[in-house]
Amino acid sequence: MPDAFLAQLAAITGPGYFLTGADEMAGYLLEPRALFHGTARAVVRPGTTAEVAAIAALCHAQGVAIVPQGGNTGLVGGQIPDGSGRQIILSLTRLTRIRETDLAANCMIVEAGVTLLRAQQAADAADRLFPLSLASEGSCTIGGNLSTNAGGTAVLAYGNARDLVMGLEVVLADGRILNNLSKLKKDNTGYDLKHLFMGAEGTLGIITAASLKLFPKPRAIATAFIGLHSPAAALDLLALAQEELGASVKTFELMPRIGIEFVLRHSPGSREPLVQRHDWYVLLELTDSSFSGLENKLADLLQAAMEKGLIEDASPAQSLAQRDAFWAMRENLSEVQKLEGGSIKHDVSLPIAAVPAFLTQVEGFVTEMIPGARLVAFGHLGDGNIHCNVSQPVGADKAGFLARWHEVNEAVHAIVVAMHGSFSAEHGIGTLKRDLLARYKDPVALDLMRAIKATLDPKGIMNPGKVL
Ligand code: FAD
Repeated sequence: MPDAFLAQLAAITGPGYFLTGADEMAGYLLEPRALFHGTARAVVRPGTTAEVAAIAALCHAQGVAIVPQGGNTGLVGGQIPDGSGRQIILSLTRLTRIRETDLAANCMIVEAGVTLLRAQQAADAADRLFPLSLASEGSCTIGGNLSTNAGGTAVLAYGNARDLVMGLEVVLADGRILNNLSKLKKDNTGYDLKHLFMGAEGTLGIITAASLKLFPKPRAIATAFIGLHSPAAALDLLALAQEELGASVKTFELMPRIGIEFVLRHSPGSREPLVQRHDWYVLLELTDSSFSGLENKLADLLQAAMEKGLIEDASPAQSLAQRDAFWAMRENLSEVQKLEGGSIKHDVSLPIAAVPAFLTQVEGFVTEMIPGARLVAFGHLGDGNIHCNVSQPVGADKAGFLARWHEVNEAVHAIVVAMHGSFSAEHGIGTLKRDLLARYKDPVALDLMRAIKATLDPKGIMNPGKVL
């Protein structure tokens, strides 16, 4: 990489935003689970779309690979460069303007580096809701959310990240800017290009801004922590809730007893959520745009579910503090697993009716393979998306257990594929699951993906080695 090229890059952003020192780059080279650690020639931090475009054009001319990075919270290594030291990281975190809020069109135009939390707060300040919600929302960015087509806890009611977008501004690999910051609900003028870039994990272009859909702010929220005997009962409860309350059912999260025990053991201040212990739990949240009556609807639903024998106990949140405590149970589940030793992760989705049979099969398989292994399967049951994690047996050697990561993944993914599910429900492919994509994706779909990549990025400079 010639010095003249590096000097030109630095001139685009100004030297303060062009990083090459090991210390100043360190935070950009390692991701949250420390599974992927890369090296880079430089980190560039442009402050405008025009600067992003100038960087892309320069890299395109020189054939230098770009790794886009937002909040660096991705879980599949997509935002981390390879080990060659020849790639540059393009950090979007200085693109932080909320350009416009249009209440008539119910949309908000935000730049890619705006954190999800700030986007939610901006919507709230305009008396609207931006419903995407993830545990990483304080640090992840809108650009990263759209590039990974993030899911989270409100997909049941509002859809994935891609469903929340009206238009995008994207810098292409050669530096051209695709300006598609639409506010239109109806626009049938050919191919809907925005969907190419969402879920592309930075392999087709750099998202610099997005026109996001806003929704009426819920006036009432009702939350309950529910104990039940099986995932099958949870599915029946979900069906009943949707039948009775339709779109008010916003969140339906499944948790196993063992997960609750982990939280009780490791999260200071956490308390047993219900009087008795139960094999499974559901966090149910309803929202409604009218102010009154939702608590009664929740009570009626729980009563009906109890009478049908679907649930064993339930506690509707009586205060904001209790609601927060219920949510903390769910949100701390990932974190506390680290304190129980090694954990082998899976982010899978199944046709929703297949989830109970899937969990039974996985439990049998995994415990036969590694006696004493503890299945901690939890997540967005309403979306058929289960974070099917396996914690090491108590007292086992962590390194020895984690050495079996690949073997356990193979077994779980084989069951997923046999049941017509997906081996990557919401975290994406990155480098972690690239080989699985090559193995399991329909060959025609793979051909089309490669053709699109070759058209949009003929020199292969956009996040090479990721996804495909
Ligand atoms: P990064 O990690 O920086 O990047 C992710 C990918 O997007 C990379 O491939 C990168 O190259 C690309 N990218 C980033 N910005 C751009 C851009 N502007 N243009 C083009 N490409 C870009 N994910 C879920 O879906 N649901 C969850 O519930 C969830 N919970 C999480 C909880 C925790 C505690 C953590 C740590 C992560 C969680 N995630 C979840 C994963 C992660 O937060 C999401 O993938 C998030 O959307 C990534 O955003 P980011 O800004 O951090 O992107």
